[in-house]
Order: sequence, then C-alpha cells, then structure tokens
Amino acid sequence: MWTYQHQQFIVHQLPVLRDNYIYIIQDRHSPVVCVVDPALAEPVIEACSQLNITPTHILNTHHHWDHTDGNQKLVQTYQCEVVANQDDASRIPYISQPIAANNAFTLGHLNIQNIEVYGHTLGHIAFIIDDALFCGDTLFGAGCGRLFEGSFAQMWVSLQKLAALDNHTKVYCAHEYTLVNLQFAQGIDPDNAQLQQRILDDKQKRRKKQPTIPSNIGLEKQTNPFLRPLDHTFCEKYSQKHQNSGTNPLEVFSAIREARNSF
Ligand SMILES: [Zn+2]
Repeated sequence: MWTYQHQQFIVHQLPVLRDNYIYIIQDRHSPVVCVVDPALAEPVIEACSQLNITPTHILNTHHHWDHTDGNQKLVQTYQCEVVANQDDASRIPYISQPIAANNAFTLGHLNIQNIEVYGHTLGHIAFIIDDALFCGDTLFGAGCGRLFEGSFAQMWVSLQKLAALDNHTKVYCAHEYTLVNLQFAQGIDPDNAQLQQRILDDKQKRRKKQPTIPSNIGLEKQTNPFLRPLDHTFCEKYSQKHQNSGTNPLEVFSAIREARNSF
C-alpha cells in the first residue's frame, strides 16, 4: 500500500489482481472514507483495519467487474453507500446513490466533481477532488482505455476534458499499464525528449517495485501519445509519416488508438 498526502485528504493506493489499483480516499476533517473502484473487497477490508478507518462510500467510475466486484462484500461489511452514474445504474451492483454526470457533490469535507468521460464504456465517469483525478479506465499512464462501447470521437472529447485540468493534477488511474504504454509511445513519438526521460524514470520505479501511478496531467500532456494530438506540430509530423491518417487531432488520435490495438 502506498499513501499520498493532499491538503484535505489522504489517498491510499492498493495494488490488486494483476495490475489494478484500488484507491481509498480518507477525508482529513470528517469520518468520510471513499473506496474508488474496488475490484475486490478483502484487500480493502484488510487495509482499512490496518488504518483503523471505515469505508462510508464506494465510488465506481464504470461497471466493469474489475472495478465493481468488491461492492457486494464492502456494502455487507460496512453498510457503505455506492455512488455511481445514474445512467449506468442497471450495471452497477448495489448502487444506492445514483448521481447525474457532470455535477458536483459533497461528502464530508470532500468536494467531488464528476465528469462524463464516455469512450471506454458508455456510462464512464471520472471523479475530481481538488488536485486529484480518479479516471478509471479512461486515461492511463502514457495510455488510454480501449473503446469497448464508445466512438473515437467520444473518447477524444473525454481525453480533452481531462487534459484541460491543471498540470499538477495527480492522475490516479485504475491500472498499472505504464511501461507497455511507454514502449508503444516510443514508436509513435521517438523524438520526444520528455518521453525518453519518462521511460527512464518509470522503468526505475518498476525495478524498485514502486507504482508509476499517480502521474500528473502536465506529464501526460507531454508524453502520452493519446494526448499528443493536442499539439498541431505533432499532428503534422505524425500524418507525414503515416500516409493514411489525416492531420486533424481527432484523425491522428484515432489512428494512434487503432495502432495501439494491434501493438
Ligand atoms: Zn474497464
């Protein structure tokens, strides 16, 4: 378990399954404890007992089993509330507080914004609390989620919303996919010095068995091949090299997303 200090809250990061992360957000000023995307219940129960805290809420970004399978047991153990997108209510087990996307709500002293980030699924939302982003399977370290339900255009809109956050916003995504994503990124963006540095830094972290997550929005904009189409020079260069992609950001994003599927 790793722990990150924010001004109003503490984030505990639990690695589970092969490469998932569950996050426990502990409000510093109230008993509110939110569990984000519990793939499993047991590691959460164990961590909370160590930390001597009690989950009050589950926040689900989307319905996939590796984000919601822990809901049942956590609800039974702690009688906690399950907060998720009302438009996805039929697919979120034990949902008790359906919320409208693109809204804000308060739990304890936590001011939580949720934004619609469709693409990986239709119903996916991201939670933003101050300088922390919990984005599920939408934005990854140097990557983005697969398009299971949404279109390229929907995902591109979603990623732009996340890219518009402050550069120092911490990106707490739900999987440790960074190294393989960086390997792909290297082929897409070989002249990017910041990317080369990130590869060294993140390889070093993994060698020490540390997470590469959270990253931050500034670093993602500089090095994530799915956000690089925000830069027009990058788009021009990319389309010169790849004859069949257009030059507008959506076309370049789509071509890169397509290439990643067969990487
Ligand atoms: Zn998913």
